[in-house]
Amino acid sequence: MRYTELKIEVKRNASETVQAILLDAGFDSMQIDDPMDAVDIAEHQDLYKYDYINEEITRTAEEAESGSDTIAITLYFADDEEGRRGLNEAEALLKSLKAGADDIAYKTTITGDDSEWLYKWQEHFKPAKIGERIVVKPGWEDYEAAEGELVVEMDPGMAFGSGLHETTSMCIKALEKDLGGSYDPSRYPIKVLDVGTGTGILAMAAVLLGADEALGIDIDDEAVRVSNENIVKNGLEGRISIMHGNLMDGVDYEPDIIVANLMADLVIMLSPAAAAQLKPGGVYITSGILDIKEDAVKKAIEDAGFDIIEVLADGEWRAISAVRR
Ligand code: SAH
Repeated sequence: MRYTELKIEVKRNASETVQAILLDAGFDSMQIDDPMDAVDIAEHQDLYKYDYINEEITRTAEEAESGSDTIAITLYFADDEEGRRGLNEAEALLKSLKAGADDIAYKTTITGDDSEWLYKWQEHFKPAKIGERIVVKPGWEDYEAAEGELVVEMDPGMAFGSGLHETTSMCIKALEKDLGGSYDPSRYPIKVLDVGTGTGILAMAAVLLGADEALGIDIDDEAVRVSNENIVKNGLEGRISIMHGNLMDGVDYEPDIIVANLMADLVIMLSPAAAAQLKPGGVYITSGILDIKEDAVKKAIEDAGFDIIEVLADGEWRAISAVRR
């Protein structure tokens, strides 16, 4: 599939106006790159408790502070009739904007992208096998499942939760183990609670792997919306519910398995509530933990009343599985 990228560079003071005009004209899917976001994150590392701060963010922040005050708004158009019409409309709109207001500076870079990449920030999103059985595929790709494979269909709407992140795939591997046949049949029906559900991927994987039902929670409205969409897309409406909430506040669900791909500090905070909701023998799968935080998280999990059964590692990331004593 070919895509065309239309990149608009605007001065900060005009950015919101231009975004509003584009939205108003029906262009409701745009990527906003604001270099000052990186400055904000870099300056408030403790506030964000951000495990993902890396050299790139720090470098971008330095560049942003050294003068660039331009925000990039990028629109993407498919290389088909509808896409070309959209592109023409967007270009006409930008031309008229520039004629009417001198302070709106913009530049368009149109690149014919002949690879199968949709958005650069989504990397190459192709059907991907995660763990032994789960395959995640975007809606536009056909995929013939081999025997035993379980396919989750998902269009990337947000970077996280496509299943391709190490922290997600480790959770899927742990779920496969826990739901993979060795489960004590007297425990059925199995309920899975997915804290920080993102796109709903782990709740969906759990149900496909044999859980009877799942509940996903997320603090982000957009995640709640996207996961509900994905659940419908996969025909799992009857078995998965999604709620908006902070960790497990106010949740009364009595799950058999809790999976939480968050980050170290949140896993530590969540552990006592997880222990309170799980019966003895219940499984607690946690991920999003950087290697340097592994010991602290293990201690918090053990202190809350769990025995650790496995630590998975992928690069700098750790996923810890534990069983309620
Ligand atoms: N479960 C998905 C997404 C993990 S990203 C996956 O494994 O791929 C972490 C998610 O946790 C994000 O969607 C974020 O919005 C959510 N989150 C962060 N803090 C939270 C909190 N305090 N309570 C509930 N969800 C939270």
